[in-house]
Amino acid sequence: MPSFAIGVDLGGTNLRIAAVDEHGTLLEKLTTGTQVARGRDFVIGEMCDAIQAVVTKHQPKGQLLGTGIGVPGITDLETGMLYESPNLPGWDHYPVREEIERRLKTKVILENDANAAAMGEKWLGAARDIASMCMMTLGTGVGGGIVVNGRIWHGMTGMAGEVGHMNVEPEGHPCGCGSRGCIEQYASATAIVRMAREAIAAGNAPDLARVAEGPDKEFNSRIVYQMAVQGDSAAQAIYTKVGRALGITVADLINAFNLNMYVIGGGVVSAWEAFAPAMMDEVKKRSFVYRNTAPDVAPGTKKATIITRALLGTDAGLFGAARLPMIESEAMERTH
Ligand SMILES: [Zn+2]
Repeated sequence: MPSFAIGVDLGGTNLRIAAVDEHGTLLEKLTTGTQVARGRDFVIGEMCDAIQAVVTKHQPKGQLLGTGIGVPGITDLETGMLYESPNLPGWDHYPVREEIERRLKTKVILENDANAAAMGEKWLGAARDIASMCMMTLGTGVGGGIVVNGRIWHGMTGMAGEVGHMNVEPEGHPCGCGSRGCIEQYASATAIVRMAREAIAAGNAPDLARVAEGPDKEFNSRIVYQMAVQGDSAAQAIYTKVGRALGITVADLINAFNLNMYVIGGGVVSAWEAFAPAMMDEVKKRSFVYRNTAPDVAPGTKKATIITRALLGTDAGLFGAARLPMIESEAMERTH
């Protein structure tokens, strides 16, 4: 009888809950909207009811190892407090973990959503045979997670891995974090739309302007990507900028950490073909560590620096969250 764990991805838009067995098989997945407007107590209540229902359904078939929950924003590992979360307004300094544990009457593991996604790719995705990796998630913002020897690298308080706020332009576009010129301002879906609108306003992108001002189309980073694929030079220039900015950050990460693998995920990664060439050029230019460890330098060895796209899509965070209680119970078994 296989054991299983619950993984939760509590986003600002969607709440997703999965039951996953210890081999990584998805037993069940639920998706509902997060009714952020109804307040945090309502959202937490709905989430706990849903978790309870999934547990009740699967518990007769196997042992529950625990529940891992990925949340957007900066959390404190020790207190389970959410410090800052732009996607969950009004949740700042809210003792999320305590509230959930009170309702579920059991311990849960709270984790930053980007860290959970990195763990998912490490367990079952692009980095499944890799010990140490860093993942960047390019979505509305840019998240990051670092896994060292199979465990999330938390830093002192759980806030490590905020690679989305590494700088690529010292005097660049202001960022929600208080700094300016962060990679999030050049490689997120939000940034791609902003850069497209900037190009339109400057009169440099007539075809993008036509599409953006069309009556029935929502203008988003996917549309900019489609324009790039169709050969629009303004759209291509935007993705080149995305690639260069990413290349700067990935080169810095390689130089600092010398990890086995750097995984790029999130919605923007579907435009891989449009930004990856510029990214790889930049990495080669800026990272001597990469130049000495690139796969073509040391073919056939296991010790090459791999830069690749994520494989699990939006499920990475769910699988990663479910994996967290499994790691804890494995560690406990070893000490007994
Ligand atoms: Zn920032």
